[in-house]
Amino acid sequence: MPYLTDPDQLGALLPGEPAYRVRQLRDWLYRTPVLEPSAMTNLPGSLRSRLVPLWPFSVEEEQFGDGGRTVKWLMRARDGASYESVLMAYPDRTTLCLSSQAGCAMGCTFCATGQFGFERHLAAGEMVAQAAYASARLRHTPIEGSPERLGNVVFMGMGEPLANYDNTREAVRRLVEVMGLSGRSVTISTAGVVPGMRRLAGEPWPLTLALSLHAADNDLRSRLVPLNHRYPIDDLIDAARYYVEQKGRRLTLEWTLIAGVNDTPEQARGLAGIAAELGAHCNVIPLNPTPLTGYRAPTRAAVAAFVEQARRAGANVTLRDTRGRGIDAACGQLRTRHAAAP
Ligand code: SAH
Ligand code: SF4
Repeated sequence: MPYLTDPDQLGALLPGEPAYRVRQLRDWLYRTPVLEPSAMTNLPGSLRSRLVPLWPFSVEEEQFGDGGRTVKWLMRARDGASYESVLMAYPDRTTLCLSSQAGCAMGCTFCATGQFGFERHLAAGEMVAQAAYASARLRHTPIEGSPERLGNVVFMGMGEPLANYDNTREAVRRLVEVMGLSGRSVTISTAGVVPGMRRLAGEPWPLTLALSLHAADNDLRSRLVPLNHRYPIDDLIDAARYYVEQKGRRLTLEWTLIAGVNDTPEQARGLAGIAAELGAHCNVIPLNPTPLTGYRAPTRAAVAAFVEQARRAGANVTLRDTRGRGIDAACGQLRTRHAAAP
């Protein structure tokens, strides 16, 4: 499973082979990924057969949504751990949402992954292989009207990337320095692991940081994101400000909008206030309801009213589309359905 080997150590997989063969393999894995070793046309057959299985997972399920413009995969590792990736195709870009852990220990009360609990960390190679697989699929079967190249990677699948810091960091290094993605097109989303946010500020890449805020006061935020007990909003703001100062990058605040919970005018004004303090952009995402939690999605009118309130209070808000709603595409949902199935 060559993606589990450090791309700088690939020679170990090809003992006795000349350096150019190692470079060829590295290109097939990271620059022009293919779905099967048999497609690595300039490698001799004997070498290709040593690369089977190519992927460190099997794709247990594949679902299409949005007229084929959203593809969701449920991956299963050899040890049974399962995790998900979602590829979203737009006219000007393609974005892969990948997982950093199988499950998550953070227990956010509206999140299917959080309700399911933690299974294990993913290795750097398992994270990068998700991006390489999406890239290989796009090259093999392009999605009409979208670029054939994987452009963006967001760490917004299952898991808390900053709770798996070293592996996430190494995955980012491989995505940027080996696969050739630009640092700006890689987004790390965190529920607010403050030490991780500060460490990330010291890394050499201009990554985009997304902070999952969801509430503007500590009482409400602690109910939605239990990690808030440990790192309350003031600490988040300090760490976020530090990141912005160090990197000169604009921060994104994520706000999953939940009916009757965080969709009030008061919360909208609170969000706008925090965004102003940080010069941040706000992404509002209507809740994708999951069977394990009792929360409801807001109505269209409630979403519009919330966005309008926040804008009137000065916030720069994007209403994120709910890609893949029909295919259980919210974090953890596909896996949850599988586990629940008889
Ligand atoms: N653990 C990280 C990254 C993975 S979750 C984090 O929490 O930021 C990625 C995003 O999906 C988060 O902003 C999270 O709040 C959001 N999310 C989780 N469950 C959701 C749901 N059911 N509907 C809509 N957004 C959800
Ligand atoms: Fe984990 Fe993010 Fe889900 Fe919270 S929202 S439980 S941090 S994956």
